Amino acid sequence: MRFTCVAGTRPNFIKIGPIMRALDERAEELRKRFGSFRARLVHTGQHYDDSMSQVFFDQLGIPEPDVNLGVSAPTNPNAVAQTMLAFEKELERNPADLVIVVGDVNATSACAQVAAYAGVPVAHVEAGLRSRDLSMPEELNRMVTDRLSSLLLASCEDGVENLLGEGAPREAIRLVGNVMIDTLAANIDRLKDVREAMATPSCEFGLVTLHRPSNVDSPEVFARILEVLNRVNARLPLILPAHPRTRRRIAKAGYESLVRNISFDDLAEVKPGDRLWVCEPLGYLEFQALMSGASLVITDSGGLQEETTWLRIPCITVRENTERPITIAQGSNQLAGTDADSIEAANAAVLDGSFKPKDPPELWDGRAAQRIVDEIIALPDEWFTTRY
Ligand code: UDP
Repeated sequence: MRFTCVAGTRPNFIKIGPIMRALDERAEELRKRFGSFRARLVHTGQHYDDSMSQVFFDQLGIPEPDVNLGVSAPTNPNAVAQTMLAFEKELERNPADLVIVVGDVNATSACAQVAAYAGVPVAHVEAGLRSRDLSMPEELNRMVTDRLSSLLLASCEDGVENLLGEGAPREAIRLVGNVMIDTLAANIDRLKDVREAMATPSCEFGLVTLHRPSNVDSPEVFARILEVLNRVNARLPLILPAHPRTRRRIAKAGYESLVRNISFDDLAEVKPGDRLWVCEPLGYLEFQALMSGASLVITDSGGLQEETTWLRIPCITVRENTERPITIAQGSNQLAGTDADSIEAANAAVLDGSFKPKDPPELWDGRAAQRIVDEIIALPDEWFTTRY
């Protein structure tokens, strides 16, 4: 029984980590169940520089990938097409009996498609999330991947409802919880030491991430967001560890004068002022250590909406919609859109304490990857040869 696990981007590494660990810990059990077992990790190469890739392998103890497909492409169709070509060769060289994909990036949908063409069953971790916004490349990736997957591993109840609503068979769906929270739960006790060893602001601060094309690709929208963040920064300093895409957009739009660059080692110097603080992308542990000391998070990231829910940190999401409504209903998240007034109103509500974080969903308990392995072990033999 050969499993091929796929990861291509920063959030993928954080999600695949606990799955690789659970497969490794339970390799003997898997061998007993299937007669033989081995798991292979494929890195598609979508995120390749050290700060977006290697640091996560090192810090989270993820095994080095068996192969790196080295695909890095300028547009989404290009990335999907190139990943498909490279993954087709990979599956020819190293046939698999099950392909496990996570999340909603190009690597996810590209590899799901190749596996489906090859007749190899696909398990999708984080199945069923929907923003219903087809202008988001991630939404297209989610829809394609779920339609082609025979094992739909959902992180929350609304994911299950979305899948059923789209006609997925109930027997293909399992509610297993959230693997991104597995990683956070597994590392939470390390954060105190990490925080003590790094330079953190001596005053209250907020943490920001922005990288969605809808927010950073249009110079007008991006300027509007940066201006409102700068107004917040006058009262509560904001730190933005910039994703490479965001860094490129700042340079391309000539917005260097709207931000203040600071290096990670100098974060102790952060204070209120007229421009928000931009540093390099951080390693997982440094980022979580900083986030767990922040008064609020402002973001367009999917993962951060979930992590702040678990950490009970107020989160303002700079988007018109979210594929993670559970973080609003049951968590600490609120949607502010990209309109300056609503971002400021959300921020004021957080700062005056009227915005109260609630409890995370029950299955976000650090054991999602174990439940995934339970579900795979319980699959009948004929499942591996029958598609729906
Ligand atoms: N993250 C990190 N360093 C950073 C910014 C984010 O380790 O400088 C982590 C964050 O905690 C979360 C993940 O990266 O676990 C989210 O990745 P991203 O926002 O790129 O992807 P999305 O969740 O939007 O798909």
